[in-house]
Amino acid sequence: MIAEGRRLAYSRRLSPHYWSETNDMVRRRQIYEGKAKILYEGPEPGTLIQYFKDDATAFNAQKRGTISGKGVLNNRISEHIFTALQTIGVPTHFIRRLNMREQLIRQVEIIPIEVVIRNVAAGSLSKRLGIDEGTQLPRTIIEYYYKDDALGDPMIADEHIACFGWASQDEMNDIADMAIRVNDFLCGMFAAINIRLIDFKLEFGRVWDGEYARVILADEISPDGCRLWDMRSGEKLDKDRFRQDLGKVEEAYQEVARRLGLLPEGDEASAILDLDEHRKKRGK
Ligand code: C5P
Repeated sequence: MIAEGRRLAYSRRLSPHYWSETNDMVRRRQIYEGKAKILYEGPEPGTLIQYFKDDATAFNAQKRGTISGKGVLNNRISEHIFTALQTIGVPTHFIRRLNMREQLIRQVEIIPIEVVIRNVAAGSLSKRLGIDEGTQLPRTIIEYYYKDDALGDPMIADEHIACFGWASQDEMNDIADMAIRVNDFLCGMFAAINIRLIDFKLEFGRVWDGEYARVILADEISPDGCRLWDMRSGEKLDKDRFRQDLGKVEEAYQEVARRLGLLPEGDEASAILDLDEHRKKRGK
């Protein structure tokens, strides 16, 4: 057993690939795999690496597919938005982008609640209450859903959150305040590029400082979890294109990134989408 271990250590020392393999192995210790992202152990305690996949799911994973280049775009779009939110004082888990598909984030204890903010009727709200899609809501609505795939993420009330201890009343106050601030900021940011923010989903997590826990914004903000309509044409520029088989899904995500100034104009745009794909195509 010991001899085997020594031989392995020795052969690793001799192997020119040892360091890269080991670094890769250390870097890639998987913590969790979700539908659109994978979390790996980070380089320092309290950090994680968030990897963005091209996989797409809808209707509680009953519909599955791939949106080519989505992971690269969502990584960039989410970096852009979280960085901007930090500048207006919204604390987030984002530390820095590492490469095309990965970002370094703070490890948080995820609060098992999906927070949906709605400005305009669409999706499940329209379906549930029979309100025409596109109806401007007289006031912004915040809804809560319990994060549980097996239960189909059921909608819940504040009462359930308090009753089952998913978050404290103070935490829920902080979450609602942050959700409204994020919504105000994003509505303006998207309006400036002729996009109407219909609704979106946020997730929050706890970070501990000794005995004291603080809630920060986690997960991602990207066209996967937002409804974004072109202001002039009403065209959908988000995951509804995939959900509803509207076609031009990749183009919609690219258009959002392009308007945010995250993609170069013209031919270069497709090349930057995925360096790995680009290299493969060039046979390198
Ligand atoms: O389906 P529904 O209308 O409730 O979705 C509201 C918003 O929340 C949409 O922007 C949708 O993309 C987002 N959402 C999400 N993940 C979920 C449920 C909803 O990103 N599991």
